[in-house]
Amino acid sequence: MKNCAIVGINWGDEGKGRMVDLLTERYDVVVRYQGGGNAGHTVINEYGKFALHLLPSGIFRKGTINVLGNGVALDPENLMKEIDEITARGVELTPDNLKISDRASLLLPWHRDMDELEENRLAEKKYGSTKQGIAPFYSDKYQKKTILAGELFYPEAIRAHIKDLLEWKNLTLTKVYGAEPYTMKMLEEWLEKYCERIKPFLCDTGNLLKKEQKEGKGILFEAQLGSLRDLDFGIYPYTTSSNTLAAYAPIGSGFLGVQIDEVIGVVKAYSTCVGEGPFVSEMFGEDAELLRKAGAEYGAKTGRARRVGAIDLVATTYGIEDQAATEIALTKLDVLSYMDKIPVCTYYSIKGEKTDRFPFPVVLDEAEPVIEYLDGWKCDISKVRKFEDLPMEAQKYVNYVEKMIGCPIKYISIGPERESIIIRGAETK
Ligand code: GDP
Repeated sequence: MKNCAIVGINWGDEGKGRMVDLLTERYDVVVRYQGGGNAGHTVINEYGKFALHLLPSGIFRKGTINVLGNGVALDPENLMKEIDEITARGVELTPDNLKISDRASLLLPWHRDMDELEENRLAEKKYGSTKQGIAPFYSDKYQKKTILAGELFYPEAIRAHIKDLLEWKNLTLTKVYGAEPYTMKMLEEWLEKYCERIKPFLCDTGNLLKKEQKEGKGILFEAQLGSLRDLDFGIYPYTTSSNTLAAYAPIGSGFLGVQIDEVIGVVKAYSTCVGEGPFVSEMFGEDAELLRKAGAEYGAKTGRARRVGAIDLVATTYGIEDQAATEIALTKLDVLSYMDKIPVCTYYSIKGEKTDRFPFPVVLDEAEPVIEYLDGWKCDISKVRKFEDLPMEAQKYVNYVEKMIGCPIKYISIGPERESIIIRGAETK
């Protein structure tokens, strides 16, 4: 069976969670391969409404194996809280349907402190971090100053390793930031309370995935955030600290050399952006407030009001290229139903020159959006299930976006529920 990656094309929050939830039906295995518990994938299904942070969105399907690969920021404390919340609502989560890489690095208790301390130090120059410790975690991982989950099986070795890290990290905490130091007792409690519970889920996820593939199973790779937040190719330094691109899936899952046959890029019918950084098509004032309200654009993890704007075809085309997306899922089209005229950012103007190429990050500050307006449809489209049944203006909007981005829009989502979807070419439901 074919493998597939579902990835974000923009700044994140595109609605990847609902797409993975929809498509897991076809796949036997769902893998998260990067990022951490700063995600907020919203899924609505028969169990209710959930904001998944680290767990893969396949956990609601019976028989689906869910994997957290070595590329994720494995935060034992938050993962256990998430597991407890979800199992309390009737979802079964056992070592049979959740597998965690023994090569995933552990997000240590001080990573969250470091995140907060550094954002506070930066004050108005802050990055807008979710303060989940993700940036300090990844920088420590690349400095080789964190712990592999598999070390939990070696109690003496892990304690010696933690002791060394503790000595080193306390220097930064106390001398640089003037914060309280950690003690070995605090780390012992953390090991006991959260890490012990992780052990039954640990395995070599690369081997597991190879075995599943050999047996003819299909694998779905689920990314966090979007192209423009990729550490290497996004709007650096307002990126995340991991690689959000489909190209990273083989590394971050441990299944090196896996072939990914389809890459579904998720694009929102308008733009949103959480945190700081350049956002060329941003809307302000009353227009922004109306769109924010219509789309309920408040962070799933933080509750923060998201910045909103017109769909940005320059950024979207760039994001699609970086993801090597083979098809697109356009989400939240229903949210635009209130608009008389729909703004679309078609080009950027940089120093008076029109361009359709997404520029080098520094240049983004000078870019002005070139906005065109398409006719709105001004009616409820949330019950539509066939493309032909959409009002002509909505069809035109989708076709226009598709032409400009040069990638087929196969899925059109018109509501948060699993069934609120139009699948072009398979006009069934
Ligand atoms: P993700 O992180 O990419 O999964 O995106 P989020 O879950 O943060 O944001 C998507 C939000 O939009 C969630 O609240 C979803 O329930 C909601 N959503 C997803 N698709 C649609 C849609 O087509 N229409 C509407 N109205 N809401 C949607």
